[in-house]
Amino acid sequence: MTASTTPRKSRSRKSPSRSRSPSRSRAKKATAATAHDWLLADQPDLPLRMTLAREAGRTWATLPVAERVRRLEPMLTGLIARMDEATALVTDENGKPPVEALSQDVAASIGIARHLLDSAQQILAPRCERNTWFIHRHATVTPRPMGAVLVISPWNIPLVIPLGQTLSALIAGNAVVLKPSEETPRIGALVVDLFKDCDLPDNLLTLVQGDGVVGAALIAARPDKIFFTGSVATGRRVMAAAAAHPVPVSLELGGIDAMIVCEDADLELASSAAVWGGIFNHGQVCASVERLLVHESIYEPLMARMLDKIKRLDPDVDLGLVTADKQKQVYDSHLADARERGLTLRCGGRWLGERKLAPTIIDGADIEQSEVWQQESFGPLIAVAPFRNDEAAIVAHNNTRFGLTASVFSRSPRRAEAIADRLEVGLVAVNELGAALYAQGELPWGGVGESGFGRCHGVEGLLEFTQPHVVDRTRRGFFEFKRPWWYPYDRHQLELLKQFSRLMGERKPRRAVAHLGRAGLALLRQMADHPRL
Ligand code: NAD
Repeated sequence: MTASTTPRKSRSRKSPSRSRSPSRSRAKKATAATAHDWLLADQPDLPLRMTLAREAGRTWATLPVAERVRRLEPMLTGLIARMDEATALVTDENGKPPVEALSQDVAASIGIARHLLDSAQQILAPRCERNTWFIHRHATVTPRPMGAVLVISPWNIPLVIPLGQTLSALIAGNAVVLKPSEETPRIGALVVDLFKDCDLPDNLLTLVQGDGVVGAALIAARPDKIFFTGSVATGRRVMAAAAAHPVPVSLELGGIDAMIVCEDADLELASSAAVWGGIFNHGQVCASVERLLVHESIYEPLMARMLDKIKRLDPDVDLGLVTADKQKQVYDSHLADARERGLTLRCGGRWLGERKLAPTIIDGADIEQSEVWQQESFGPLIAVAPFRNDEAAIVAHNNTRFGLTASVFSRSPRRAEAIADRLEVGLVAVNELGAALYAQGELPWGGVGESGFGRCHGVEGLLEFTQPHVVDRTRRGFFEFKRPWWYPYDRHQLELLKQFSRLMGERKPRRAVAHLGRAGLALLRQMADHPRL
């Protein structure tokens, strides 16, 4: 097991062969240049790191939310100042084109951070709840931090995912131990480095680099909460390991987004959306368009526009690279399965060099049974099928174990929303791609089914890093009295509780007064029998 700040490997989009760059020393230097000793775990003593983080979190949790926001604000200022550096690093290590690195990672991080910093005080404010039993009592419910939060991240959107989750956990008053993906360690180090001007207590934010073995060891070190983003297979392992303590887990897992295009859709808009939505970031997005359902009457016209748009792409400028080698096997398997089934590759299906699969569109009879339709490709492969009517589209869409995002394209808002309401996913976009909703910090992001549970972003996403703490008390000016269900038990008390129960369920004021009167009578009788109990 290793827990270190040393990146496992480095990749470069700029390398002439576009293959993996072996520049280990350069990567090491970059990490050292962006990392700060007080933030880094440079020893494998993970239980101690977790304990230190938890202790730091106790101090941090005592600060008012406004003060935490004030101290975290420099992170955003620093990110804006270092926008070019961050964009270049994401392109270099992850392999996506600069436009995508800027929009999908850097700009999205800025928007999410701004929203979090602006809305945290309101979201984390205590709320008052009245008491159903007694009008003289009420309670406050305060979202309180959970302690040491372990954030485990993937490599595909390597800046915004760990940054948004780390910031959310910190604003909510927690300490954070961040384990970025072993595929993108330098970007993980940048995330932590962005907090260097934030005046945080020592050990509040700890970076631990390493692979899945390190991730498992961090869970064994017993964090107070785990926020995991990654594959379904790893999510299962994380949940099983967390169950041993047990500690709560949020799982943001895979997806096979479907885009539904109705016959009244704007074909120019829909074809552009489908091409970009299926191909950007080399398709390595949990919400990229993997399945395309097209009304049969516009099937070929839409396909023609898509093929035309793909032909116009410049592979050197517009297409990202495979970040993780393991994905290549998935693409090859999905392509082999498609060929075996006699499906049609309308374009692509071949490698453009070592780290780039040509954008691939597949269709044909019974495509719904194929691997490319059923499983997450996480690549630039789009499986297309026609549908006859809206009902058939909904059934075809919902016939999957995943449920993260979807989109509906139609010129009729009513029709699009009627379809959207019945799609079994966490988020649906109308005339927009589901993937676009991740960058909207005000919307809760997360899935159903095997896409996981729990949310990041929005009100729900920030509360995900808290636990409700209740204080129940008597209102000022009211006096205390013995509760009617305390001892002694007798027949008057039974009558009192019956009337009391009716009173609680009653909506009509006149009847409520009658129940109250009978309850009062029973109380007086009880007090007469037992004046001192
Ligand atoms: P992965 O599951 O292989 O790894 C994710 C992280 O888990 C990495 O940091 C890895 O080191 C760590 N890990 C691996 N084994 C572990 C273990 N036993 N215990 C603890 N940690 C462990 O996923 P990946 O290949 O990095 O990412 C791709 C997957 O992530 C895709 O399925 C994609 O759909 C999903 N994803 C989901 C979302 C979302 O918001 N739902 C966002 C991005 C990516």
